This record gives sequence, C-alpha cells and structure tokens, in this order.
Amino acid sequence: MGASALYHLAKAGWTDCVLLEKNELTAGSTWHAAGNVPTFSSSWSIMNMQRYSASLYRELGDLVDYPMNYHVTGSIRLGHSKERLQEFKRVVGMGRYQGMDLDILTPDEMRGRYPFLETHDLTGALYDPNDGDIDPAQLTQALAKGARDMGAKIFRFCPATGARREGEEWVISTPQGEIRCEKVVNAAGYYAREVGKWFGRDVPMMVMSHQYILFEEIPELAAWSREAGHKLPLLRDVDSSYYLRQEKTGMNLGPYERNCKAHWVTPDDPMPDDFSFQLFPDDLDRLEWYLNDAVERVPILGTAGLSRMINGPIPYAPDGNPLIGPMPGVPNAFEACVFTFGICQAGGAGKVLAEWVTEGETEWDMWSCDPRRYTSFAADKDYCIAKGMEIYGHEYAMHFPKHAWPAGRDRKLSPIHDRIKALGGQFKPYNGWERANWYAKPGDDLSEESTQTWNREGPWRPRIEEECRAVTEAAGILDLPGFSRFRVKGEGATAWLSSLITGKVPKPGRIGLAYFSDDKGRIVTEMSVMMLDEDFFFLITAATAQWHDFEWLTKHLPDNAAFTIDDVTDNFSCQILSGPNSRAILADVSDADLSKGWLTHQSCQIAGRWCQLVRVSFAGELGWEIHTKIEDTAAIFDAVWAAGQTHGLKPFGMEALDSLRIEKGYRAWKGDLSTDYTILQGGLDRFVDWTKPNFKGKAALEREKQQGVIKRFVTLTVEAGECDAPYMSTLWHGGKVVGETTSGNWGYRTGKSIALGMLRADLAVPGTEIEVEIYGDRFKATVQPDGPLFDPNNERLRA
Ligand SMILES: Cc1cc2nc3c(=O)[nH]c(=O)nc-3n(C[C@H](O)[C@H](O)[C@H](O)COP(=O)(O)OP(=O)(O)OC[C@H]3O[C@@H](n4cnc5c(N)ncnc54)[C@H](O)[C@@H]3O)c2cc1C
Repeated sequence: MGASALYHLAKAGWTDCVLLEKNELTAGSTWHAAGNVPTFSSSWSIMNMQRYSASLYRELGDLVDYPMNYHVTGSIRLGHSKERLQEFKRVVGMGRYQGMDLDILTPDEMRGRYPFLETHDLTGALYDPNDGDIDPAQLTQALAKGARDMGAKIFRFCPATGARREGEEWVISTPQGEIRCEKVVNAAGYYAREVGKWFGRDVPMMVMSHQYILFEEIPELAAWSREAGHKLPLLRDVDSSYYLRQEKTGMNLGPYERNCKAHWVTPDDPMPDDFSFQLFPDDLDRLEWYLNDAVERVPILGTAGLSRMINGPIPYAPDGNPLIGPMPGVPNAFEACVFTFGICQAGGAGKVLAEWVTEGETEWDMWSCDPRRYTSFAADKDYCIAKGMEIYGHEYAMHFPKHAWPAGRDRKLSPIHDRIKALGGQFKPYNGWERANWYAKPGDDLSEESTQTWNREGPWRPRIEEECRAVTEAAGILDLPGFSRFRVKGEGATAWLSSLITGKVPKPGRIGLAYFSDDKGRIVTEMSVMMLDEDFFFLITAATAQWHDFEWLTKHLPDNAAFTIDDVTDNFSCQILSGPNSRAILADVSDADLSKGWLTHQSCQIAGRWCQLVRVSFAGELGWEIHTKIEDTAAIFDAVWAAGQTHGLKPFGMEALDSLRIEKGYRAWKGDLSTDYTILQGGLDRFVDWTKPNFKGKAALEREKQQGVIKRFVTLTVEAGECDAPYMSTLWHGGKVVGETTSGNWGYRTGKSIALGMLRADLAVPGTEIEVEIYGDRFKATVQPDGPLFDPNNERLRA
C-alpha cells in the first residue's frame, strides 16, 4: 500500500514524497500474501477499486519495466443456494456496468472450465475472467521502481518513530533524522494502530491470523495443465468459506474459518515491536473441516501431500474494509491501512489515496473505505475484536438487507432503549446507536434464518405495513438517538454558511434542507439548518455522517472566525412524531403553538421539560421532530406515548421510515446523495440559489447548467417481482444500460415497488418505459413526474 501510494503520488506530479519502511519492503503482511487479485465485490466502490488494480497490474510491468508474475486465470465462485446466485447476478450486473465481462455458469459450464470439480450440489457459479494471482513482492517492487523512476524516494530500514506538529508542518522522526512535511500518510499495515497513536488517533482495527496450505504436485493436475497450456481458474467455495488455487502443479487452499483466531489482543500476547518477515505457528486443526470439504469438492486434492503452511497477520477494521482517506480530526494526515485484501486493492487504493492527498477529494465516492465512517465508539478494542472475528469468520457471507450482524452491539443506547425493546423493537446499529428497524409482535419469527433472503417478504413485512398505516392514518413515533447535531453561533456564522451551501439560509424560526457541494458541483452532504436566531443555528445530519460532516464544516472555517462550531450530538436526542393525529397528541401534552406551519420550529414544554418542536416529516405526513435534551428523552417519550394511546399512536421503525420517505422522493445520504453525482444530476435544482454572488461549487454548477446534465435523478415505479431494486441495479433501455438505481423499496401507501436512480438525461421524461435489472432479471419500470410520488403537492405535510 505504501508503495502504491508513493507511485500514485509521483504519477500525480508529487515526486517530493518519501516512503519510510522500517525493514525491507513487503516485510509486513505483503511478503506472505497469497496474491489473489479478484475484482468481485458486492460494494460498487470496492469493485471499482479492485477493477482499477487488476487493469493497472496488467500493464504495470511494461509501464515501469519490471516484469512480474501475474497470472490472469479467471475464477469460479460457487453458489450453493438460490440467494447466492441472486447475489452473483447482482454483481454480474454491476461488473458489466463497470466494463467487466462477468458471467453466470451452469454446473456443466463449470466442469468445462474446471474438470476436477464436483458440482452435484451447486446451483450455479459466477465466472470472473479478470481474476488471477500476482506475486505480491514483485508487485511491490514494481510500484516502488515506478515511483523511484519518477523521483520519489524510499528509505528502507528507516522506521518512523514519532510525529509532532510544528506550525503547519508535520515533523516525522526516524533514527536517521527528522523529516518535515506538509502531509503524512499512515500506511503501516497491521502496525497502523501504533502509528496512529502519535497523532492522537485510535485506529479502529485488530489483527487476525490467516492461513493457507500449499500442496505438493498433483500429477493429474500437472498433466491437465500441460495439455491445456494454462492453469485452472481460481476456485472460491464461498458458502464453505475458502479459496482453492492452482499453485504451479500443486494447490493452495486458503480458508476463512468460523473457528478463527485473533492475535495480539490480550495482555499476555502483546504485539511485538517488530514482526518483520515472521509468521505465526501453523494451526492445522483449525483448517481440518475446510480441508475435508475441499477434498470432497475437488477430489484430486485428496491425493496431494501437504508441502507448507503459511500463517500470517492480517489486519481487520470492524467492517472488513480498509481505511483510506483523511485521518479523522487530524490536519493534513491520511490513512491507507488495515487492508484485508491489500494485494488486490492496493492499485485502486493508491489512486484513491493520492487523490485525497493531492486534491482533497476522490474521483469515485469512497465512503465505504472512508476512515470517518467510524466515530469514537469504534476505537474500543473489544468492539474491534468482536467485529473483526465476526467479519473474518463470515468473510464471504451475503449481507442481507434485513439481517443485523450480532457482534459488537449495544455500544450506544437511547435513554428509552428498554421501552423500545419492550415494544418489540428489532434493532440495528447506526453509527453505534441502536435504533429499532421494525417492531415485532409475539409469535413473529425472529430467527437469523428468516433474514437470509433478498426478498421483500418476511416476518417484518406485515409489521412494516402496519407501521406505515399507523403513520398514514393515525400517528407513529420513532425514537431516533444519535441524530448528529452541530451548534454554530457567533458573528458571521450565517454569511459563512451561505457561502458553503447551494441554497438560501432559512430565516430565524425556520428550518430548511441545505446541500453542500464540492468545487466540482458534486454532492458532499445534506444537512437540516435549524435557524434559531441571526448567526445562531443547529445543523442536523445523519448519524453516520457525524465526523464526516463536522470535518467538512471545520475544514472550511475562515481564519479568525468570530463564531464557533460545536458537536453537541451527545447532548440531545430526537423522536419523530408523524401522522394526521400528531397535532392532537401534542395538543394534549405541550404548550406549543401547533398552528405554526410546515418548516417552522419552536421551543416549548412537554411534561414540564424543554424541547424544540420542528415541523418536518421525513415520512411525508403532518408531523414534528421532538428534539430534547438527552436526559429528558424518557419523560417526554412517556408523556407523548401516554397521550397517543387514544389517538392510535404506534411505534414505527427505520424500515417503515425508509418506505415512507422513498414515496416522497426524499434522498438518503451515501445512496441517493453522494459525490458520484452533482447537485444538478441529483435533481436538487430547487435548492440552488443562483442569485447568491457565490457559493462553493457555483462555477462548476453554472457550467453544468449551461452544458446540460448528462444524467438525471428520477423516481421509478417498478413492476418488480419478489425483490425491490437494491443499490446499483442497472437501468436498461433499447438493449443498453442507461443508468442505475440509488435506492429501492416497497411503498405501502402507494402499493408500488419504487426505485430512485440516475437515468440518461434524454430518457428522464415522465412516462418513459425502461427496465430495471434486479438480481439478474429485468422488470418493467416507468419514469414518474419530477416530484413526490405520494402527495405531490405536500398537502398532508402542510395540513
Ligand atoms: C496468509 C495471508 C494471505 C493473504 N492473501 C491475500 C490475497 O491473496 N490477496 C489479497 O489481496 N490480500 C491477501 N492478504 C492480505 C494482504 O497480505 C494485506 O492486505 C496486504 O499485504 C496489506 O498491505 P499493506 O501495505 O497495507 O501492509 P503491510 O504489507 O503490512 O505493510 C506495512 C509496512 O509498514 C511497515 N511499517 C510499519 N510500521 C512502520 C514504521 N513505524 N515505520 C516505517 N515502516 C513501518 C512495515 O514494515 C510493513 O512493511 C493475505 C494475508 C495473509 C496473512
């Protein structure tokens, strides 16, 4: 990763960069890696990164004049179930959109490519012609040579031993002297937590032991390979959780075991200062089940002798994705570390990191790897260990939309968590905060197995429908702890905000949505601006956006600002009360003026406690957000809940909210709203105040407006089957891919499957018929008029 970062920085013209390596290059995890280079990912951005790596590696040897062993063998990923095949088909669709020729194979086709394979229990497979393996040491040296040839420097056997800030510079100490630099990157692999400490940063990570077994020559395989003139494709039995790769004339078996083992996590097993070129002791017992399974799958393996085992350290972040991007809260410092698939990702990650460093933004939206996706709760070692073990043991697992992974839970609880639980709340964490996704009733199937589906149907479906009905016909309440909140106060605050957002700053007493654009006109984030007074407001944003958005704001503070910004998220909580009866409920318990219109707010009392009533509804009904001091959450909830009993009040969860919001065309952050799209592509024109003399992104947006957008945000109704469209389902028209979905769900008020997405601009015309590819099948869809599908004139909101 360090070598790739250096190579890409040099390529961007930043040749006055230095890579420090405490030992010899590759001494960390890289020297012993198996070197597999898959492009497969169910994440669009990670697939992008891996696709870039694979294409870079194909030409790198020639580019830098350093020939290396890179075998593009293709790979076969085996599917044991209908759901797995659905996952594969979705990935095939995404891969095709990224220009890769992924395909689905039948058992016969699998045997055609892999004659030694037992296929009787398989439903199908995914074929990735771009997959292969590379020599990780050669790859590192090639990147290093390329970087050096462009003028960058590498100091081997020169550890960084500390970092301090002097003025605008970082001073990095080494045994050979100090280096002063503007920017610094932590690419220390599994040592990243140690290096992070110098910056006051707790890197959320832990270290697993990961093994593979090398087998001796298998004569049948050697003969086949000689005749075929190539190696077997790499095999991944993802449901059994291992890969099997031809290694010369033998095999390499690499499992991700359920009975896995973490290292350096207890006081009696501290991480050594130096583990360069070292391995953990072999642990064959852990692999036995996988070995037997692989022998049943590829029986010739049973004839092979075991030649060697490799057991090395592999770092894990709590979600298994690397950390690439700004080091949270630390100026001019970046992270490119904690890679579990650092060989196949290093190429693309180097590009992404170099963009962060040189431009402060990336070509592709890389939130999935952004270090700021975790906040302080994730620094906790026990949390990291629990999540790392869980992810490692389920490395190839399917991530079903209604499934909540059980490890590392209950990190942040609402003051009324117990009440929500007693009401049947089925929780999922949002930036560590447990929120109810839906409410179960006695007798509902709450087993983990019931969640193993991509389908809309499941034990949750009737409950979500009931919750949506309550919100539409009576009232619903949703406890929303962890809504991120920043207080901005002081002279000049309003003018500053106006220079950052595309639209108008609301007047005191009002609340409005604000969009933040980068200099390219792309969507950075969305926040609600609650204007309390001139130069005094709260900015409210998604739980997961807490560090990201706070950093965007503080990064753009003017020198000598006379106003302050404080993150006061932990001081407040919020409950959403929505539905036609919500006014009657509040009338019973508050002293508020409930005739105040939509998009207003006011201070009032409920149960003798202060709260801020904000007349907005993400559900698209008459409603208020009740913002309270955290310590008053319970008293206020109890009062509202009690008053609601005669008005049909029911609890509702995040699933119902998502269904209700999609019917209103309200966008969700990092799905519908991301830096992959501009403000104008996102259909947010009405949030742009062109009359303002300037705002961030204005010039780019003006240019785009003049030239016309190439794609446009649309709402689609879909004649879907059992599943609604997931993120990044491709849109088809006239046999061509013409766009993608950014979210999809069932709308219970409209009785329709709805997708939001981006469509080629000429087709973004109401009534146009297109097709949406959902898990491999195409369904008819119709472009809807611009505006909410449900209650297009917002009459219910204004009621
Ligand atoms: C058995 C095994 C098989 C694997 N197989 C694959 C695979 O097939 N495909 C794949 O994509 N990934 C694979 N991986 C994962 C892969 O090895 C890692 O993701 C990758 O090597 C990480 O690269 P890195 O540069 O981030 O970290 P590292 O390779 O660990 O490099 C970090 C470097 O930082 C140096 N360093 C640390 N502290 C300092 C300091 N203070 N000053 C200076 N230098 C310092 C270290 O010496 C080290 O060289 C495998 C891992 C294991 C254990």
